[in-house]
Amino acid sequence: MFDYLKKLSLFNSKAFYYLVLLLVLTVSLTACTTNNATYVNNEKVKVFADKRVELFCVLQALAAYNLRVQSGQTRNVKGVYENYLSDIEVSFYNHKNHPAVQKIQMLFGQYLLIDGNVGSYATAFNDEFKLHQGLSTEAANNLVLRLGGEEQLAAFSQDIIDFSEIIDFESFFEKHSSYYDEQTKNVERKFIDKGNVEHAINYFGKELNSYNIIISPMSRVMSSRKLENDNGELDAYIVMGIPRVDHNWQIVLFHEIAHAYTGQLSTTLAEKGEELLKLVPTLETINDYPYYPVQTEEARVIRAIDEYIAHASSFRIMALNISKSQSKNYMNKVKKLGFVHLEELGDKLMEYESNRDEYPTFDDFVPEIIRFFEQLAES
Ligand SMILES: [Zn+2]
Repeated sequence: MFDYLKKLSLFNSKAFYYLVLLLVLTVSLTACTTNNATYVNNEKVKVFADKRVELFCVLQALAAYNLRVQSGQTRNVKGVYENYLSDIEVSFYNHKNHPAVQKIQMLFGQYLLIDGNVGSYATAFNDEFKLHQGLSTEAANNLVLRLGGEEQLAAFSQDIIDFSEIIDFESFFEKHSSYYDEQTKNVERKFIDKGNVEHAINYFGKELNSYNIIISPMSRVMSSRKLENDNGELDAYIVMGIPRVDHNWQIVLFHEIAHAYTGQLSTTLAEKGEELLKLVPTLETINDYPYYPVQTEEARVIRAIDEYIAHASSFRIMALNISKSQSKNYMNKVKKLGFVHLEELGDKLMEYESNRDEYPTFDDFVPEIIRFFEQLAES
């Protein structure tokens, strides 16, 4: 994967600029336990700022700062988080070469941020940024792989703890609490009260244990993770930035929630093993397909189908509940990103929507989805 990045000769390319932009704006981590909740809408939907996510945003901001200097790129960070970012840079500039920042930079070179995957890495840590003992998460495994071993992961954890103590991150987070609250309530008012989570629940046919929407001022790329609790129930964690254009954000919220519902799809696809490779030609049209940060081609296929479904189901939820024209605009935009079969997939999902007796939940429709992609590959 690293070699691939090198081949792009990133430091002189548009791709690099894009990556740095993403780095600055991207999201980080989700949580294993709900902490720092600032607003609770009901028992299942929580909207809050998360200390770990914000710390990772600080690390990323400094890493981006370093990379920008190195590459001579101009900054292009505007909007509501501008002051917040300046505050981070001014407050923590002296620590921009801390080992924790350097490791984030290194991981950045390994696609850390392109898929919002950095968000999932928080699941490897607890509130004190220590590794969860005995918890083998996808995030922890991924980090072990990327950092080069379990010892390196433990060292990384120590670096993060050290960094947060040196910069007194606790105080920084405290100091900005009213800002987080304001943003959180804003999102709450615009998105949650409108019943958007309920639309998604109805669409997929079952309630998860909780929906944790983590508001992060510097995040634009959203990420979402599903985590199993001790009782085997699923909690969805969605990290999102601050909405500006309402309808776009509704769709993105649907999109991220959709990712929390694709567990059965991924499992069923994974069981197919090498057979999945025949689907590759159908998926290669996706612009960022080569970047999907996975270890195997099979995993890349699963990731691509997951993305297809998140896009298709979110525009369908939009069409059914909010606006057909906005939904269509969105679909056309996403098609241009290389999801060329999106419209047909939407039609396929309409079969699910109109036969809910037969398919009470989206999981029940998974075999049909897989058949859809298989048929595309054969045609
Ligand atoms: Zn997605």
